Amino acid sequence: MEMVDRQIENRGVRDPEVLRAMRDVKRHLFVPDRVVSHAYDDRPLPIGYGQTISQPYIVAFMTEVIEPKPDFRVLEIGAGSGYQAAVLAEIVDHVYTVEIVPELAEWAERRLKLAGYENVSVKHADGYHGWKEHAPFDAIVVTAASPHIPPPLIEQLKDGGRMIIPVGSPFRTQQLVLVEKRGERTRTRNILPVQFVPFTRAEEE
Ligand code: SAH
Repeated sequence: MEMVDRQIENRGVRDPEVLRAMRDVKRHLFVPDRVVSHAYDDRPLPIGYGQTISQPYIVAFMTEVIEPKPDFRVLEIGAGSGYQAAVLAEIVDHVYTVEIVPELAEWAERRLKLAGYENVSVKHADGYHGWKEHAPFDAIVVTAASPHIPPPLIEQLKDGGRMIIPVGSPFRTQQLVLVEKRGERTRTRNILPVQFVPFTRAEEE
């Protein structure tokens, strides 16, 4: 598939399961009708409500970096279109995804069902608090940029687990930060400059 060869493998993504997932997930099922003809373009796309579906390469990169395994339970913050959740669901046992915009939570849930994914649970909530009932998670993928790493997410990560999160101010270049939890110590590394939509907070807080 051209998208995977040119945009993803060419830029260094090597995990065969990630490449297979990127080939198998039908990205056009997750984007709104008005941008369907651009579904496989090398860029983010608008999905309404001021939000975007990330560039395919970024989705592949974030998926590879958490080192997903078939028995993993993964938490995603920012379901958006549902596309990243679908890519994860191709590889891992179960994906729990949280979305703060109610219409997008509904959209993601519908699209994931339509595409045949039964191992994804979608919840409408402020993802700052993670999803405690299903914690701890083997890995966490955050797809909105936060000024800091929410402490509840670190708490809900398994010992030895990995989290990938864009950190920085809205509408500026942010850093994709890889968090590795080892007992009481948490190691963080900046691994790629990126631009994500902001991590928003529920109004009552
Ligand atoms: N992973 C998505 C990318 C969506 S963009 C995809 O594959 O399409 C980021 C998403 O994060 C947006 O839908 C936005 O509404 C959501 N978001 C922002 N702040 C959030 C928060 N505090 N909790 C949950 N979702 C949030």
